[in-house]
Amino acid sequence: MRDRGRPGRGAQPPAAQGQGNPRPQHDRWFLNPYNFVRYLGKPAAEGLARLLGRMAPPPHDRYVGLNGRITCQVTAETPVFVADSEDVDPVTTATGEKHFKYRFFRYGGRDAIPATTLRGVVRSVFEAVTNSCFSTLECDGIKRLEYRVSEDPQLTPARVVAIDKKGNGTLELLDCRRRAPANSGCGDGQGVLSAGLIRAYSPKVGRYPGGMQERLPNEARCPDGTRVAALIGSQVVPHRDRDGRPNYRYFEIQRILPPSRRHELEPAPAGCEIRYGYLHRTGPNIERKHDERVFFRWDDNDDPERPAIEGIPEDVIVPFANPVREEYNRHIRGYLERREGREAPAAWPKPSSFVAGGHELRPGSLVYCKVEGGQATCLRPVSLPRLPHDSPREKLLPEHLRPCERPKELCPACRLFGWVRGSPDPSSKKTQVAYAGRLRFSHGRMVSEGGKEPLEEIILAILGEPKPTTTPFYLATSGGQPPYRDKDVLYKEGAYRLRGRKFYYHHAGGLNELEYKAQAANGMNRTICGARDTGTTFEFTIDFHNLSAIELGALLWSLQLDKNCVHRLGLGKPLGLGSVSIAVAGLRLLRLRERYVELSAGGGEEAVAGDALPTVVQDYVSAFTAAMAQTYGRPFDELENVRDLRAMLTRERRGRPLIHYPRPPSDEAKWSDAPLPDGRNYEWFVGNKRRQRRGNHYVLPPAEDDKGLPLITRDGRD
Ligand SMILES: [Zn+2]
Repeated sequence: MRDRGRPGRGAQPPAAQGQGNPRPQHDRWFLNPYNFVRYLGKPAAEGLARLLGRMAPPPHDRYVGLNGRITCQVTAETPVFVADSEDVDPVTTATGEKHFKYRFFRYGGRDAIPATTLRGVVRSVFEAVTNSCFSTLECDGIKRLEYRVSEDPQLTPARVVAIDKKGNGTLELLDCRRRAPANSGCGDGQGVLSAGLIRAYSPKVGRYPGGMQERLPNEARCPDGTRVAALIGSQVVPHRDRDGRPNYRYFEIQRILPPSRRHELEPAPAGCEIRYGYLHRTGPNIERKHDERVFFRWDDNDDPERPAIEGIPEDVIVPFANPVREEYNRHIRGYLERREGREAPAAWPKPSSFVAGGHELRPGSLVYCKVEGGQATCLRPVSLPRLPHDSPREKLLPEHLRPCERPKELCPACRLFGWVRGSPDPSSKKTQVAYAGRLRFSHGRMVSEGGKEPLEEIILAILGEPKPTTTPFYLATSGGQPPYRDKDVLYKEGAYRLRGRKFYYHHAGGLNELEYKAQAANGMNRTICGARDTGTTFEFTIDFHNLSAIELGALLWSLQLDKNCVHRLGLGKPLGLGSVSIAVAGLRLLRLRERYVELSAGGGEEAVAGDALPTVVQDYVSAFTAAMAQTYGRPFDELENVRDLRAMLTRERRGRPLIHYPRPPSDEAKWSDAPLPDGRNYEWFVGNKRRQRRGNHYVLPPAEDDKGLPLITRDGRD
């Protein structure tokens, strides 16, 4: 862990492949902290293979298999930290931020690794190696993930006219591309924005001398109330967008007023006309916002009572169904949920008015809509919105890997470690919603400090949160390849699938303090007190019950892995903490026959120890690996899940670059890859997103081919 060197430079570039990532101009590579362990096809369902597929678990009330206890020794290979409670009171930093500080978990007066942590670590490997279900997959159901559109999705402005008791509703389209509000010669709508723009805010509002300031919209230009009379220029205004793409044009609105004050707009200056519409004011919700939009009325009428549905011509009326309304309301709630738990909003920008108002769709709401087959299929509050992915995440997994649903058809991991039904099954009246599992883990009690004191307080670098919307990392094509060159990678059943199970690389070759330590405590990072250093050992036991030889073998494989591999546990895995090896130090098998026949003779237990232990363990492991080979029709060592686990958990460095989160260079001229103090890591993704529009972005390679990704600047240079 004392490795202060910077081995990032000069690492091997990815293998040259027709289908690989592009080659950058520089040689600054890093390895993303996580990658995925691939899954296998559907298991064969005959012979031994039955035990590696889905089936009913054995009963708990009879002895029908192997019973006994495994004793394991855990050795820290990097510093390890497991928090004693997720719920600690924050301390307040000098700058007034809430900072969380954790202590090591304790049991019986000593540091310990909790049983739940050990169980989780072993289960994750067991699930991956046995091709079991994704038990921890977050299922989206109807609440799909959303993505930010990269190109204008050409939504149409509209107003909700009515919503009936069932939640179905009617929109009137307010599309000035089709019904031009002025004699502008753009009736075909080519290149014209669907709404008019009024300059509502000072240019580049936000950062002023003296700090962030709030500049309220000019009330005279942008009054309250949605219904407006607008004075517009009769010509559309050409405009070039930021990326220099073809011009778009818009109706520039000079001034707007409530219809009752229409007379103040008269007489209209030369070249201008007065038109009626609705002000769609979303507020100063992004830093550089300067415009609000006006949806022109298709009837150019100021009568507040009109239009009634009967009076609206067919070509501007569009129905929407209740699920579309519900999806819109969920979308708005999503804005609120993302804001929850964050620090108080900055002075600027302000939350959108539709969020602040806790908005739900109702008659009179102004929206943008997507129209397909004469129906509105999606409603949004803004023209460049987040849109829902086509499919929920679980649909991007083959059926045999989705979380187990039926108690008589449990995967190997659920049968061994236990199962709880994730979602209520409305079609079944049966009440079984859980199976207890056949393993009992003890806490891992510390048995040796490895001659070292616990580490003093460490302020950890900021830990990232899972971002499954980073689709070039999380998804593979339907054929299982990384989505090289795909401009849009979406959660879409049939087109893409989940990469696999997320694992964190072992930081072979030591940790770098510059990477995992932060300079100062703040609201984003955390302090850990008393991490245990390398060489610390813990001991835990697993009591097992009614196991088959194959199951015991799979469990033993999942504990020991290969000689050259480690497990990852506790806090700070992406930063390199928490690498441990697990060794099977003892095995006791209960000989039940003997137990009942001769109660006096040692209780019928057989302790396997000494020279015999490795052989016995290997026999069970071989039973498992042979069953895997039979089930999947290939040698165990050739299976993708096994290869990927080994690639990610190996102690071998194999010339790999430094492991850290994607980030831009700290000095663009020199391509230096020092950590950034101010959390600008996300700029790597901004740059990569730009590249994606051109089809030369970087995607995460498969774990076994992963030689790293290059630094990218915010504007996409490499
Ligand atoms: Zn399962």
